[in-house]
Amino acid sequence: MAYKINKPARTLAVQSYVVEATKGLMITGARFFHNTFAKAENSKIATIRYPEEVREYPERFRGVHRLTHRTDGSPRCVACLCCSTACPAQCIYIEPAEYAPEDPRYGYERYPRAFVIDELRCIFCGYCVEACPCDAIRMDTGTHVPASTERAHFIFDKEILMSIPGRDGSYVTENPRHEPGDPSFPGIDRKHGH
Ligand code: SF4
Ligand code: SF4
Repeated sequence: MAYKINKPARTLAVQSYVVEATKGLMITGARFFHNTFAKAENSKIATIRYPEEVREYPERFRGVHRLTHRTDGSPRCVACLCCSTACPAQCIYIEPAEYAPEDPRYGYERYPRAFVIDELRCIFCGYCVEACPCDAIRMDTGTHVPASTERAHFIFDKEILMSIPGRDGSYVTENPRHEPGDPSFPGIDRKHGH
C-alpha cells in the first residue's frame, strides 16, 4: 500500500535555513554554557582529560602484546616467524638466533635475539596470537600503550614485551610442544631428523 508523504511547504523561512540554524545554535550555546558553569557532577561533557583520566576497560578488552616466559625466565618464543608472517600490518620484526651448543634446546629450536613490534602500525587484529604455535605471544594485558608524543615510545622491543604481565599478573605459559628435557621429548632435532 502506497503512502503519500506531505512535503513541507517551501516557504522563505524554510528555504533560508535561518530558523533551523538558529535553533541548532541555541542548543549548542545552551550546552556550552551549562558545561562551562555547571558543577562537574552535573556536567554533560562526554569526553575526559586523557591521559590524566582513563576509563575502565571492559573485561573483553585484550590490550597490548606481551611475550610470555618459560619457568627459567627465557622467552617462550622459538622465533618461528609465524606471527610476523601472519601480521597484515607487517609491524613485527624478529631476528632468530641459535641457543648455545651446550643448551639442550640447541639444534631443536631457536630463540628471538630481537623481537620488535611497532605498536603504532599494529591494528590489534590478534592474528599474531592466533598464529603462534607456542602460546608465546599474547594480547591479554588489559592495558594499552601509554600516551606519548615520542614515536620511539611505541616501538616495543623484546625486553619491554617480556616485562608486561597478563591481566592476571602472570608471565609464564605452558608450551604445548615437547621440549628437550621433558620425559615426553621424542629426541628429534635438526641433526637427527624426523
Ligand atoms: S595484532 Fe595484528 S597487526 Fe598487531 S602485531 Fe599482531 S598480527 Fe600484527
Ligand atoms: S611469538 Fe610465536 S609465532 Fe611469533 S616467532 Fe615466536 S613462537 Fe613464532
